[in-house]
This record gives sequence, structure tokens and C-alpha cells, in this order.
Amino acid sequence: MEKLYKEIEAVAKELVRIPSVNTTSGEKDIALFIEEYLRDMPYFKEHNDQIIIQELDSDPLNRRNVIAYIKGEKSKHGETILLHGHMDTVGVEDYAALKPYCFDPDQLLEEMLKMKQLPESVRKDLESGDWLVGRGSCDMKSGVAVFLVLFQYFSEKAKELNGNILLSINPVEENLHTGIIEATKVFKLLKDKEGFQYVLAINNDYICPLYEGDTKKYIYTGAVGKLLPCFYIQGKETHVGQCFEGFDASSVAARLVEEINLNTEYCDSYEGEYTLPPSVLKMKDLKPWYNVQTAADAFVYFNYFVHYESMGEIIKKLQQASKKALEEVEEKMNREYRSYCNLSGDTYSEIHFSKSLITYDELYQMALRQLGDRIATLLESKTYQMLQENVDKREIPMYLVKYLLQELKIKDPTIVLYFAAPYCPHNTLKKENKEEQDLILRLTEIINEYAKESEEEYKILQFFPSLSDSSYLKIDDDEESIQELISNFPEYELLYAVPLKNIKKLNIPAVNYGCYGKDAHKWTERVYKPYTFRTLPQLIIKTIEKFL
Ligand SMILES: [Zn+2]
Repeated sequence: MEKLYKEIEAVAKELVRIPSVNTTSGEKDIALFIEEYLRDMPYFKEHNDQIIIQELDSDPLNRRNVIAYIKGEKSKHGETILLHGHMDTVGVEDYAALKPYCFDPDQLLEEMLKMKQLPESVRKDLESGDWLVGRGSCDMKSGVAVFLVLFQYFSEKAKELNGNILLSINPVEENLHTGIIEATKVFKLLKDKEGFQYVLAINNDYICPLYEGDTKKYIYTGAVGKLLPCFYIQGKETHVGQCFEGFDASSVAARLVEEINLNTEYCDSYEGEYTLPPSVLKMKDLKPWYNVQTAADAFVYFNYFVHYESMGEIIKKLQQASKKALEEVEEKMNREYRSYCNLSGDTYSEIHFSKSLITYDELYQMALRQLGDRIATLLESKTYQMLQENVDKREIPMYLVKYLLQELKIKDPTIVLYFAAPYCPHNTLKKENKEEQDLILRLTEIINEYAKESEEEYKILQFFPSLSDSSYLKIDDDEESIQELISNFPEYELLYAVPLKNIKKLNIPAVNYGCYGKDAHKWTERVYKPYTFRTLPQLIIKTIEKFL
């Protein structure tokens, strides 16, 4: 086993040494390294057609998925375990003065230890010699290294396997998840061609302590979902000299943020596990320059986590929030106007606007009715053109909405609610589903047994809390919910074509084991070697041996 440890550590370091920051050509470089690593294995010298390099669709950076599989030879079984992970990392600006060393684990360790301002807890870890540093060390190149070395290990044992192991290492995880999304097409192809039945997918994205002093290791049986609800707000501008005559779009945006941001009433729960509340990710008025007019329109969107709620329920909640924001802005105007009239001696009369909240679906249907079918092609070509111009994928729908409001001559204060990219489906193993319940019991047994053997304390949770590629292997939303999302997601096919139906058919139970580390996405990112390079690989070996 010490041989495995050394080998995994060496591969992890090599992977860290290849800069593969998201949206750089490094993502291709690391894919080439991984491909070569696989091609060097004696098994693939004989089975080189079992390595599939899938270049991403029209990707200017030539990024690719590296996919390979070992076919069990003991008996012919379709049962297949998918091992998957991502090869990209986040950027490196956080390293500041240490940036030149961030891809060199050994040098970086030395430089960090020389630092006077190194936080005490980090110093203690690093001085122990048990931690590996560098960008991607924790998120998640060590996880990929574990898979690569184990893949080699199992490639020598193909004769003892009652099923197949499929490996998929993907780029573009840290923003749009395009790698895994496109890989699902290959998984589907292999299902048809090789008869693969996917019994389990194991992701190795990092796990970490959930609170100070926490030493438990977490296994996740699913992934949190994420939506990006966007609100385009059309108000009525006015000159600051007639400030009570307009309907200020900025104030509506502010009210929406006040209502939704960090509000735990929007936390979703399933079987006692709660999502984090929504966070505002963008809020701006759309005035292009300075003048003394109030903002005619504004734009705001949120990160919104989901465990269970249907799209219908979520949309209803967001509609209520929007109506409340519109009402409250008007109420405040009346309150202030009344008090201003008291001060100035003017005569107060009630301010009233006819305000509305519409969903994108409602707006689109209205447009089809009033403007005809040609509107569909028109929106499509506008989207296509904006994509060419590199307009942000969240703002393209905003321009479409503005265009429709204008064409439909809707001039009153209006909020249009829509969804934009990215969208991560939520999934977990559910007790009410017999097959999934069996799988929970099977995994629990393996983990409990291994906990005793390894003297680790494990805890099984239902949802990996950070967004992950595992989202795209199984979708718990039903058809109706999916349809509701798509109809409110402008130009879904062009802007974020997740093959939802395909994924729904694949329905791969997706768990996360994970390398263990701290401070992912920070310059103090580090992975704990004894767990990651010794304990975790044994757990994966045990799991695969139990299943295949
Ligand atoms: Zn990750």
C-alpha cells in the first residue's frame, strides 16, 4: 500500500505542476498529460480503443474530456462504476506575491514556511509534513491522482472484475460544467454500445471540515442544485426635481435584495438537510451614464440553492417576493410624499402605478400571440448574434426581455422573472425509492465496516454543498418541473443546453467520496496526504470490489 501512496502523491504533484486554470489553454495541456498517462498503461496498449478523447463542441481552447474504460473479464456483466473528476482549477490571483510558486508544491511549501504572516493553524499543518500545497492540490487534483493510480491498479485486475470501470476526467467544472455535460453523451453511447449499466458514480471532489475542530470525513450521496433567478426591472424614470413622479427601478432592485438575500425563508430542505439561503450575485441599474434622471431599469440576480422544491413552488415564491417589492416601493413613496407634503404645505394625493410581475414564459406566450411565430426565430438570431459578440450569458436574456416589452408596448413598471446559466440539477439517493434505499444501505454498510478498519469517523450526508459535476448525472426534478424551468429560461437551447432528457434516462446515482483538505479556492489550499493518499484509495478499492 505504501507503493500506492507514493505513486498517488507523485501524480498529484505532477498534476499541480501543470497550470490548468479554468478558461485557459492549460485545461487542454492537462488533458494531454492524463491521456498520455492512460496510454502508457499496458492494459491500454492492448485496448487503445477504450480511450475516448472527446473534444468539447466548438471550444476555442480545444478542451477535451478524457474518458477510458476497463472491461471486467471474470463474467460478462453490464454493471459499471463511473469514476469522475475535474481537471481545471480556479484562478491564482489570491496567491499574490506567492504566485510564481503556486504550481510548484515543494517550492511553495518552502516559501510559505518562510512567511512571517502565515496563519498559525496553517503553519502547524505545514510543519507536520503531512500536507501538500499548491493550486488544485485540494480542489481536486489529488482526487484525480487517486483515480488515475487506482485505474492503473484495476487495469491489472480486469480478469477479477465482474463489471466495468469507466473513468471520466473533465474540464470546465469551475464555471459552466460543460465537460461533464458533454461527457453524458458518451456515457449514453457506451450504455447502448457496450451495454453499460451505471450502478454508481464516484466523484472525488474535495471534502473539508464543516466547522472548527471537525475531524469527521463526509460522504455525500448527492449534490445540491443551483438556479440563477434573474429579475429585469422596468420602472419609470423621472427628473430628480420631480422625484415623486417616477417609479424608481433601483429601489425595486434594492427591495428585492433586501427580501431575498440571505433570507432563510428561502432555504430548501430534504430529510432534515437544509440548503444555504440565496445570495445576491449581481445588482445594477442600467443607466449607461450620469444624468439627473432616476434609473428607468435595473437588473438583479441571485444564487439559489435547491434540495427538493419543484420549479413551480420556487417560481411562486419568487413571484411573491417580486410583488411584495413592487408594493413596498409604492408604499414608501406614498409615506414619504405625504410627509413631504406636510413639510411643504402641498396637497397630498395618492401615488398609484399599475405594476405587474410576469414570468418569462408569460411574456413569451404574450409575444407569440400578439407578434406571431416569427418572434421565435427573431429571438434566436438575436441570441446568436449576442453570443458572437460575447455578451454575458445572463444578460443576453435581459436584452431579449427588454426587446419584447418594447414590442408589446408594455410601459408600466414591470418585473420580468427568468432563469439563466448555469443551472445545476439537484439529486440525492431517496429513501422512498426502493432501489435507491438499497443502495444507501449497501454504501452505509461498506462505509461503517471501513470506518472500524481505518479508525476514521465517517458521516453520510445527502447533498454535496458546493456545486459539483455530480449534478449532471442524475436529475430528481420531474418532467413537469423541468418543463417549467425550460419555459422560463430564455433561449435554453442556445445558452445552456444541458441534455436534461438524456441525463434523466441515464439516472446515475452520484456519490462523492473526496480528497480531504482545507481552504479550497484560497492561497492556503492544502490537502491532507495520509487520508487522501492512503485511507481514501482503500475505501474506493473496497467499494469497487463489493460492487463488481
Ligand atoms: Zn472541485
